[in-house]
Amino acid sequence: MALVNEHFLKLQKNYLFADIAKKVNAFKATHPEANVISLGIGDVTQPLAPAVIQAMHKAVDDMATKEHFHGYGPEQGYLWLREAIVKNDYLARGIHLAPSEVFVNDGAKSDTGNIGELVRWDNSMAVSDPIYPVYIDSNVMNGRAGVFENGKWSNVTYLPCNESNQFIPQIPDHRVDMIYLCYPNNPTGTVISKDELRKWVNYAIKNDSIIFYDAAYEAYIRDSEIPHSIYEIRGAKKVAIEFHSFSKTAGFTGVRCGYTVIPKELTAATMDGKRVELAPFWDRRQCTKFNGTSYISQRAAEAIYTPEGKEQIKQTIAYYMENARIMREGLTELRLTVYGGENAPYLWVKTPENTPSWKFFEQMLYGAQVVCTPGVGFGLAGEGFIRLTSFGDRNDCIEAMRRIKEWLKA
Ligand code: PLP
Repeated sequence: MALVNEHFLKLQKNYLFADIAKKVNAFKATHPEANVISLGIGDVTQPLAPAVIQAMHKAVDDMATKEHFHGYGPEQGYLWLREAIVKNDYLARGIHLAPSEVFVNDGAKSDTGNIGELVRWDNSMAVSDPIYPVYIDSNVMNGRAGVFENGKWSNVTYLPCNESNQFIPQIPDHRVDMIYLCYPNNPTGTVISKDELRKWVNYAIKNDSIIFYDAAYEAYIRDSEIPHSIYEIRGAKKVAIEFHSFSKTAGFTGVRCGYTVIPKELTAATMDGKRVELAPFWDRRQCTKFNGTSYISQRAAEAIYTPEGKEQIKQTIAYYMENARIMREGLTELRLTVYGGENAPYLWVKTPENTPSWKFFEQMLYGAQVVCTPGVGFGLAGEGFIRLTSFGDRNDCIEAMRRIKEWLKA
């Protein structure tokens, strides 16, 4: 008899976006004339940069000839892309990495979800709350999260991020083995300073812990004091794995490409106290379970690092950040408390008079025909907030602000 991995039975149904869709559809059924604007989705809307399109066309042409055809590529990614990443994303910031420390993937979701395979199932873990759900659900699947009681997993330390700590998780009073951090943060749109990040790196060094640092939104940072990479902090190479994605940097949600950095210095202990490097483990894991990102996607990613590519993706990011500015200003004028949206494409908006997230979601849908994401859907600490994204079209953002204004003033 084949027995199932019963940890899957423990997974909480991820109803968030399905519930949103259901409620929006119910509204549309009774208000067929309404033109609903969604500021809830976390997907980009603007087309790929021309330099990327050109590189993809060329890569397709390569595949059409015997000489330039590419079959299976290196599981770790093509050297030309890893070199471009090292040079542009790290060396330019004074961080020295070898291409062998970079592992190209098909987006950050796969690696943030799979990275837990590198360490024993019974390591303890901590996550910030609210949270990108992949960090927890992937650990539920491998049995590390424990059992679900009163809205929390028994083996998970939750690090609440709220107004009182400016959405920066505070160092716990006990040791944990694995810590998931995401900055700029989804969903709160907030960032972490070097001083605050240094506290976490020092904690990890002191406690022999590993930080899984998700930098998927680093391209949205505008403030020059905010770190783009955890490796800007001294000592971080010994304790941190970093994840990047081209999804939001360059509109690759449908193309699929990103990368993970595992420095040579990063080690963990065996039961008998030996130190083992984790990069060769990941290399082995990828060679066994992953057959590489497509040649066409990697050529597309390489084009982001050309002078034209850099300029073009900068313009698209500026477009989204202008949306964020319009939304921030509009909502602040209405005396709503707004966080994020300055170095990230997300706005974390406090609901007036502590209205529960889902109630405010419905009020805004019916009152303004604008869809948001209820903050509580990202964790208990998200209650009383909603998330808005700036990935929409400019005209929709402007119209949404006009409607919210009219609705809240009425
Ligand atoms: N990490 C965070 C924090 C995200 O919000 C997302 C996507 O929304 C991802 C990772 C995954 O991105 P992708 O798999 O498209 O690279």
